[in-house]
Amino acid sequence: MDKQLLSDEQQLGRLLDQARDFALGFRGNDRLAAGSSLTRIPQQTLPERGAGTQDALQVFQEQWTPYLVAAPSNRYLGYVTGGTTPAALTGDWLTAAADQNPQSVTGQGDVSAALERTTIDLLRQLFRLPAEFCGGFVTGATMSSFTCLGVARQWVARQQGYDVAKDGLQQPIAVLAATPHSSAIKCLAMLGIGSRNLISVATLPQREAIDLTDLHAKIEALGGQPFLLIASGGTVNTVDFDDLTALGKLKEKYNCWLHVDAAFGGFAAVSPAHAHLLAGWELADSITIDNHKWLNVPYDSACWFIRKEYLPLQLATFQNSAAPYLGDPAANFSYLNLGPENSRRLRALPAWFSLMAYGRQGYRDIVERCIDTARCLGESLTRDANFSLLAPVRLNVVAFTVNGADAGTIDALAQQLSDRGKFFLTPTTFSGQRGLRAAFVNWRNHPDQIPALLTELHTALKELTQAPAVAP
Ligand SMILES: *Cc1c(COP(=O)(O)O)cnc(C)c1O
Repeated sequence: MDKQLLSDEQQLGRLLDQARDFALGFRGNDRLAAGSSLTRIPQQTLPERGAGTQDALQVFQEQWTPYLVAAPSNRYLGYVTGGTTPAALTGDWLTAAADQNPQSVTGQGDVSAALERTTIDLLRQLFRLPAEFCGGFVTGATMSSFTCLGVARQWVARQQGYDVAKDGLQQPIAVLAATPHSSAIKCLAMLGIGSRNLISVATLPQREAIDLTDLHAKIEALGGQPFLLIASGGTVNTVDFDDLTALGKLKEKYNCWLHVDAAFGGFAAVSPAHAHLLAGWELADSITIDNHKWLNVPYDSACWFIRKEYLPLQLATFQNSAAPYLGDPAANFSYLNLGPENSRRLRALPAWFSLMAYGRQGYRDIVERCIDTARCLGESLTRDANFSLLAPVRLNVVAFTVNGADAGTIDALAQQLSDRGKFFLTPTTFSGQRGLRAAFVNWRNHPDQIPALLTELHTALKELTQAPAVAP
């Protein structure tokens, strides 16, 4: 055996202590740049003989870590980026240490798949979703929607009279949506449905939510064929929600599959004052939830929720073995046959740890504090003559613009903020107006941080407007 490998194993405790020290230092580093400061990509060649873990850790710390962004801090407000709770980090380390591969829960079943199912049930309880939903873990909301829409594709094709998993796509599949996340479009591409075949439904004025009148017209134009409807349970830009009760009711009249992308908006269910935004989502056929956002578990983690009645369709879509599936699919439950991945890490464990450690109240506190922080920023910007909100603050995202500034200035402001290092926000466009977004998804977010953010915004804006013109 390689001497270095052997000696590393013998010193594993010491190595893990060093990793622990690094992790604690990284999480507690308030000076770490929130935005990327990568100026030069470190170059590395494969060593002929490795110098061991300690050496690798040193190279990592010297050459790579100065460029890591403060993603786990409450100063990173770009995209929709959660942090990592202490329990989730603990669970994630143990996931790697235990190195299980969750598959089946029956027969020669493994406990890790049982733990995954248990975790899904804890999440289902957190969201107060009915027990009719089956669920599983995947890498992200994109793969969750891929799983859900894969089963939906099977469902439509079945009604068109064939098995799309076996025969491939034979006929176009109608898909309707108003403001789908870019990843849903990517799913249509990956599933062979075709991203160009999305039928775009109008939104309500000044909203990202579906216009039901236009939706009805678009559905009537389909002439009775089965279709997929992708609904938003929280858009990224302005956290707008489709009228999920109205969309759920459509299923009584039309032959449609309702998929709700509630990647982060699903966590509104955890706050009694905001749960109404999701009213009707329990009528969905499938739901996407991202865990590495508001659940505050590390990348990569999301889950799909699909109604149990569709298990046979899900098996037909993702069955791994060539032999036809025999027996009761619910009794012979195996994740191997229910999702796009075969071997997987025990992604449920960090979520299980965090849910057990903090419970319903802990998550309610995280979600409501993030919402309070967003509201606090929204109110401050409303009172500030420099800024205007692009949309009302419905949940945890503030989309705003700089009064009188053109798109170039706003993009430059985002860059300037990022260069200053304290906060990171992403630019966006809403209703044709360029602006910035601040998304509060981290368990550390607190209204107390808003004065510092406002100071940074003003300073960056001043620096920008006073900057000497670039010589031609
Ligand atoms: C983040 C997000 C996604 C994509 O999630 P990934 O985890 O990046 O795959 C999809 N839909 C919504 C609404 C999101 O916020």
